[in-house]
Parts: sequence; C-alpha cells; structure tokens
Amino acid sequence: MAMSKPDYYEVLGVERSASQDEIKAAFRKLARQYHPDVNKDDPQAEERFKLINEAYQVLSDPESRALYDRFGHAGAHSTPPSDPFGMAENLFQMFFGGVGVVSRGPIDGADRRVDLTITLEEVLHGAARTIEVERLRLCPRCKGVGAEPGATPERCPDCAGSGRMRFTQTTILGTVTRVAPCERCHGEGEIIRTPCRQCRGEKLVRQRDTLTVNIPPGIEDETAILLRGEGDSGLRGGRDGDLYVVVQIASHSRFKRRGDDLVTQLNLTYPQLALGDEVEIETLDGKVVVEIPELTEPYSELIIPGRGLPNPRTGKRGDLYVRIGLKMPKKLTDAQRNLLRQYAELSGTRLKKYAHAEPSSFFEKIKRSLKQED
Ligand SMILES: [Zn+2]
Ligand SMILES: [Zn+2]
Repeated sequence: MAMSKPDYYEVLGVERSASQDEIKAAFRKLARQYHPDVNKDDPQAEERFKLINEAYQVLSDPESRALYDRFGHAGAHSTPPSDPFGMAENLFQMFFGGVGVVSRGPIDGADRRVDLTITLEEVLHGAARTIEVERLRLCPRCKGVGAEPGATPERCPDCAGSGRMRFTQTTILGTVTRVAPCERCHGEGEIIRTPCRQCRGEKLVRQRDTLTVNIPPGIEDETAILLRGEGDSGLRGGRDGDLYVVVQIASHSRFKRRGDDLVTQLNLTYPQLALGDEVEIETLDGKVVVEIPELTEPYSELIIPGRGLPNPRTGKRGDLYVRIGLKMPKKLTDAQRNLLRQYAELSGTRLKKYAHAEPSSFFEKIKRSLKQED
C-alpha cells in the first residue's frame, strides 16, 4: 500500500492559519534549500523539492487551498488548473470576488535610491560625501508602536489578534472557508485607542536624513554603493530596506575616462612639433614636464605612465594618454607670412597662390632676376 501523502502545511512548515505571504516566504526558503541544483548528491532532495512545489501550488491559490482545507488531498487534486472549464474558478469568483488576504506577518521596509554626482578628482582619491535621503523610519515618539507613549495597543476582540476573519459558505463544491482581513482592525490584529500624535498611529514617519557615504577610489560610472538597512524601516520584525547610492561621474573639461586610463588633448604649434620642445602638461594631479621629440606627428599620442585612475580592484593606476594636435595661429604678420613662404620654397612646396608674386626672400629675388636676364 502506498504511503499516504504528507500534509501540505507540514511540508511547507507553516500553520494552517498561515497567510499567503507566510506561505510564499516558507516556499521560497525551502525551494532554495532543496533545489536539485544545490543538492546533486542527495537523491531525496529532488523528491522533497517536487513535494514542496506541489504543496505550494495548492496552498498559494486561495481556492484550491480552501478545497484542500475541506477535503484534503482528494479536494486539492480535483481543482483547477486540471478543470478544463474553469468552473470551480468561476464559481469561486462568483461567490467571493477577488478578496486578498492581508498579512499580519513582518513587513519589510522598501529599498531607497539616491543619485550622487562626483568629480573625476574624487574618483582619483576616493571621497566621503554627505547625502540626503528621504525615507520612512520608525516614529521616534512611539518607537514604531503607533500608540501614544504610555498607552498600549489592545488586542482586537473581533479577530482575537489574528487580523483575519473566516467566513464559511456552502457551494456546490462543498463548504468553502474564506479568509479575509478583519474589518474592525483592518488586518492589524490590534486596536490603538490613543494614536501617537507624531505619526497618527502610522508607526512610520517620513523624514529627511543626512548620511555619509564613502566612495572608494577608482569607482566606475553608474556604480551603486549599498548602504544596508538605510532604506525604509521594517515593521513587525520585518527587515529594514537598503539604500542604494548610485554614483555618476561628471564629465571633466580636460580629461576623458577610458577604463583606468585618462585621455587629454594637447595642441602644439608647428615649430614645436617640427623642432621638438619641452612642455608642461596638466594631469589630474599636478603638472608634469614632457619632452616632445623632433618631428612629432600631429594626431599621435604620448603616454604618461601611472597618471590615470586607480583600478578599483588592484589600486594600480592607469596611464594618461596625451593626444597631440596642431595649434594654428589666429592670424599672420607679414614677417611670419614671408618666413613661411621661404620655408615652403626651401622644402619644395609650390604654393599656387604665390606663383606670380614677388619672391619672398632676398635670395630668391636675386635668383629670379638672374633668370630673367638670361
Ligand atoms: Zn508615533
Ligand atoms: Zn481584528
């Protein structure tokens, strides 16, 4: 003879009066624990996992749960989704509507998010920044009790503190028990006769708090820093929510980020590029002197090692890439123009514009007048 099926409530380890949230929480915990992927060596885990799933399928649906409560496994197995006409479901909704069951269990606080913009200099050195966060925290006056100090909430006499009422109704499927929030205490299970003056019995107050957040050096754009428990306060033993500080890095007038490296632009004059020079370059942390070799190509890159940003994991600094550009003068004097023409002539560049003009140099003038006399 086959062994009788274990009780679904026992499978999930919850009371018969457990709320939907309690059932869901119990299922999640067990599903993680007995998931076949994490129990490869335990052949019984898979069977257990199947049973947990089955129990959850039945108990998470108010209708099938009600039938299970009434008829046991026989009831649970004659319920939808195997019912091809969805009759039981329709009947259920016809009689009861879509009433949710309010939980009296712990309520977790919500997570909060704050955006913070930092400079590239702060990425380099790291920073401690103060932030403002608006959040719901336990009322400081009643410490989250909801009643005036000295007054204590009373147990709701209608539901005896459970926050739930059971209604029994007879349908063609049998007697069905509906569980709904207690109307007197709105599912709270307690009645506060003298509500706290500060939070008006809400237990939480909206407040603006200033917190300090430490930004590690080398942080990447759009990184969220987690401040655990700094979100909204939980109630009835629920956990406090977390605060996520999402860090954005402001664009810099002089430097662009490329991973751990920085890129900057340096425009030099033609003589500097052609003849070479020694120039001062502004880095993110101070000036350095760099030698520009003779005949440096425009649009080439110089690398200054170790002047980038620290790697967030290793702390090792990247490099600074200096893109070389050509700086043109805004205008030319006659003397400069003449010298440039001479340079062009000497380097064999024929400028159409000056083909019929007076030669620029004394030397060329002589040469040309000698040719004309030939
Ligand atoms: Zn209060
Ligand atoms: Zn009540």
